[in-house]
Amino acid sequence: MVKYSVIIPVYNGALVIRETYKRLKRVMEQTDGLYELLFVNDGSEDETLDILKELAVRDDTVKYLNFSRNFGHQIAITAGMDYASGKAIVIIDADLQDPPELIFEMIQKWKEGYEVVYAKRIKRKGETVFKKVTAYLFYRLLRAATEIDIPLDTGDFRLIDRKVCDQLISMRERSRFVRGLVSWVGFKQTAIEYERDERFAGETKYPLKKMLRFSMDGITSFSYKPLKMASLLGFLLSFFSVIWMMVVLYLKLFTNLTVTGWSSLLMAILFFNGVVLIMLGIIGEYIGRIYDEVKHRPLYILKDGWRVGQKNEKVPY
Ligand code: UDP
Ligand code: MG
Repeated sequence: MVKYSVIIPVYNGALVIRETYKRLKRVMEQTDGLYELLFVNDGSEDETLDILKELAVRDDTVKYLNFSRNFGHQIAITAGMDYASGKAIVIIDADLQDPPELIFEMIQKWKEGYEVVYAKRIKRKGETVFKKVTAYLFYRLLRAATEIDIPLDTGDFRLIDRKVCDQLISMRERSRFVRGLVSWVGFKQTAIEYERDERFAGETKYPLKKMLRFSMDGITSFSYKPLKMASLLGFLLSFFSVIWMMVVLYLKLFTNLTVTGWSSLLMAILFFNGVVLIMLGIIGEYIGRIYDEVKHRPLYILKDGWRVGQKNEKVPY
């Protein structure tokens, strides 16, 4: 019986994956139970898969899942949870920005009875100013927008208990924002603090486009506030419009100041059209996600994978 599962989502991680394996191995060897290193290859275009195969042949604790294409970080984590068999499950990035040595501390907290131990970044090393600023703003915006208590500056680096994992597995929503879901399920949670390291090699796999999508997923999955704000803004603008209409009517009926006004007219049209389009866009974000949800497609498709079977031989998933 495996006691600890470590889930490592990897997208184009050929430059880092051997080192990640080595560091994780060193840490997990010193724990008090059997463990598995479950890599999820999220449709990498480089040699990641070959390296994983090689590691899996050499080392029985290494298992992997191989997606048919790139499904995204959050989905990769989910697949890892689906297949993890440990009593405690650790999720960690592949690029060694999350130091594996913290797992000791997480396990310690888990043994004290905490069911979720998340790692809170008090510092980020070697990131661009842009990334730091956008991340800082994102976590605060998310906090303001949602009703559940999603911890600030916390990524997916965490340990979860089997019970929590089972709950997460049962939630099959598509626009997944795993750290929000973990907060949502509750249980006894605690934080440990750490300084986020520099990327071991390679570059971010979260370009701006993915980052934006990810933040929209986070907000729309846990909040209707953008919709509420749209209707609030609608009410406010209608209110001021009525006042303005009365002013215009007064000018028309009781003065002769009505000939000019082309500029104000155009400004009003442009402004209100802009606002309306933004509101439609907000509604669109939700409708798009509803559409994704009702199609009921599987969250991911596995091409293949490799695990340790019952007689301890390696068998495909
Ligand atoms: N990742 C993934 N699929 C993707 C993008 C990223 O599985 O489409 C993985 C990546 O391999 C890494 C983790 O998600 O383990 C976080 O990505 P990265 O470290 O590039 O993000 P950043 O450091 O910029 O936050
Ligand atoms: Mg990283």
